[in-house]
Amino acid sequence: MPHHFNNYVAGRWVPAASGRSVENRNPANTDDVVGVFPASGAEDLNEAVAAARAAYERWRKVPAPVRALKVQRAGELLRERKEEISRQMTREMGKVIAETRGDTQEGIDTAFYMAGEGRRLFGVTTPVELPDKFGMAFRRPVGVAGLITPWNFPMAIPTWKVFPALVAGNAVVIKPATYTPATVCELGLILEEAGVPPGVFNVVCGPGSTVGEAMLEHPGVDVISFTGSSEVGRHINEVAGKKLKRVSLELGGKNAQIVLADADLELALEGVLWGAFGTTGQRCTATSRLILEEKIHDKFVKKLLDSAAALKLGDGLDESVQVGPLVSATQRETVHSYVEVGKEEGAELALGGEFYEEGECKKGYFYRPTVFLGVKPTMRIAREEIFGPVLSVFKVRDADEAIEVLNDSSYGLSSSIYTRDVNLAFRAVEDLEAGITYVNGPTIGAEVHLPFGGVKDTGNGHREGSFTVFDVFTEWKTVYVDYSGKLQRAQLDVEE
Ligand code: NAD
Repeated sequence: MPHHFNNYVAGRWVPAASGRSVENRNPANTDDVVGVFPASGAEDLNEAVAAARAAYERWRKVPAPVRALKVQRAGELLRERKEEISRQMTREMGKVIAETRGDTQEGIDTAFYMAGEGRRLFGVTTPVELPDKFGMAFRRPVGVAGLITPWNFPMAIPTWKVFPALVAGNAVVIKPATYTPATVCELGLILEEAGVPPGVFNVVCGPGSTVGEAMLEHPGVDVISFTGSSEVGRHINEVAGKKLKRVSLELGGKNAQIVLADADLELALEGVLWGAFGTTGQRCTATSRLILEEKIHDKFVKKLLDSAAALKLGDGLDESVQVGPLVSATQRETVHSYVEVGKEEGAELALGGEFYEEGECKKGYFYRPTVFLGVKPTMRIAREEIFGPVLSVFKVRDADEAIEVLNDSSYGLSSSIYTRDVNLAFRAVEDLEAGITYVNGPTIGAEVHLPFGGVKDTGNGHREGSFTVFDVFTEWKTVYVDYSGKLQRAQLDVEE
């Protein structure tokens, strides 16, 4: 019997009002049913927002250090259940168990980091221009936070949003991705057990077209925090922007790794294999472009093709597997259609470019690690986010051209440069148009206590992670206290 999951609304686990549900299957083996989930609609979302609004009035009065203790407890419970959650996550979306453990760990790290923020949430005091007067500004919650998350980091991304939102005093309604609701339901169970009061945290499972749209329009939702594709992000910004909601968008990427001729090539090779084929290329920070200085191009490509061809594909629960399946049949079709586009555009398909259906893998959505050579910046495979195990390789003359090619993108999330030349490394740090730059590391590997996000079409200027996430989930309140006992007029009564 498959496990039946419910929505979590006002502290109760309830089915969709319509009674409808959908089944989710393991992308590594479609015989394996991961669970049955509510196919919710606007009615369910409305219930959850009403519960959140009511709970918010009590939650915002709970002192931040006490709110943070609930998040700390959630972190402890996540740590206790790390293995079972990670195994279910591998069944849910396919990435290998070492990576789903990392995904859960990111949730644990965020919990403990945010628990500390409950005793910081620093504000500002500053001198004022009049005597016997005091000025300060501090952070207050926004209200009800509507969170919409993607499937590729089923625990990390929801917790990046949920924990700071709660510590800051907001109530939350989350709509998880339709491929990965099980992990967010586990998070709901954990928050319930951690003692987060009913209504403060709510989960509504269902499609973006119903639950998501209803959230964007709902007058009871004050801030929308979205992670997903740039296409959907644009739409969200339009709809929620019209209602003057605050909107935080973390969107797509077309990240590149540069390898200069003086680099440690073995290290750069390890980096690109992890960056391009880890999570089967389905990371917003995945390395989808590799920019090689011409002097080492041929030598590097040979090693790359040999190593990529040797990667082991299979069910991610097998510890020896390095590359899991794509998340769905549709995603595999999309990836394959980009491979066809790349061939038509004249890039050289040097590896992969086809479904992988050996043995048990025929029951899942596997795709061979794929490498295109001779890619030009104008090609679609160089410009559009493919979100699969497809790497486009560019040959450039020198560091200047490498930086130019990397920057020739509408996205600006992550970037990487391998070089031993400290001058070139610092120039790249300054000149690369990306929210994140790694020197001698791959394009992936963010830590929770540093700002995360990108420039250009990757977002709208917000940063998750670290204390910067509170710019999404708090409002500033400025306070002047005049203890002079008389009217003092700013700008007018100032004695010089
Ligand atoms: P997606 O945009 O298709 O969906 C993301 C979420 O939005 C899902 O929960 C979906 O149900 C919901 N949604 C879809 N249509 C909606 C609508 N009309 N209204 C409201 N909600 C709607 O993205 P995905 O396929 O789940 O994830 C992959 C994308 O996410 C990639 O583009 C990837 O780069 C991006 N991503 C970005 C980051 C980042 O931090 N920058 C992190 C991870 C993933």
